[in-house]
Amino acid sequence: MARYTGPVCRLCRRERMKLFLKGAKCDTMKCPIERRPYPPGIHGRGRIRESEYMLQLREKQKAKRIYGVLEKQFRNLYAEASRQKGITGENLLRMLEQRLDNVVFRAGFASSRNQSRQWVRHGHVLVNGKRVTIPSYMVRKEDVIEFTTKSKEMIVLRHNLDTIDRSVPMWLDVTDGKATVRDLPLREQIDIPVREQLIVELYSK
Ligand code: SF4
Repeated sequence: MARYTGPVCRLCRRERMKLFLKGAKCDTMKCPIERRPYPPGIHGRGRIRESEYMLQLREKQKAKRIYGVLEKQFRNLYAEASRQKGITGENLLRMLEQRLDNVVFRAGFASSRNQSRQWVRHGHVLVNGKRVTIPSYMVRKEDVIEFTTKSKEMIVLRHNLDTIDRSVPMWLDVTDGKATVRDLPLREQIDIPVREQLIVELYSK
């Protein structure tokens, strides 16, 4: 599975905002956005012409980077979202939220989506009692997500459960290290700083 392996903080700096890709570091003064809130590179502090295309492109890049999805997969998701009934942009965000790695993160088990993705790939996560190792697996209503008995003993997981103070979205129910999907997320329950309409405009060109 292809994935981005370059420097992650650079991605936030490119979007000029915190995308919270690194877990605990993101809430400290070590976060590069605190000291250098401008794009990387020698022209980073120069004047940038904000064309319509650029605004649309940046929204798309932001969404991809937050969820850790590469271009081809993102485009496929968009194609699927546009085939579904309803508003394409909202369908797209809902499908991104339904990804198993995102659900493990949203439930407060992992400090970042990168960490949750690794746990899924390494076989620590069960969906309805069956091991699922595909981070892009889409959860459905009433699915139950938990860790294998052995994985529940991981020190880092226990540390996360004790220390992560992130509010769990309404569409998830988390008790005793188990997350249950109450319902599929609505747009107002997805708190990411992305204007999905601009992504739709970009791909509709
Ligand atoms: Fe982004 Fe976190 Fe790095 Fe800050 S520390 S730039 S929020 S990934």
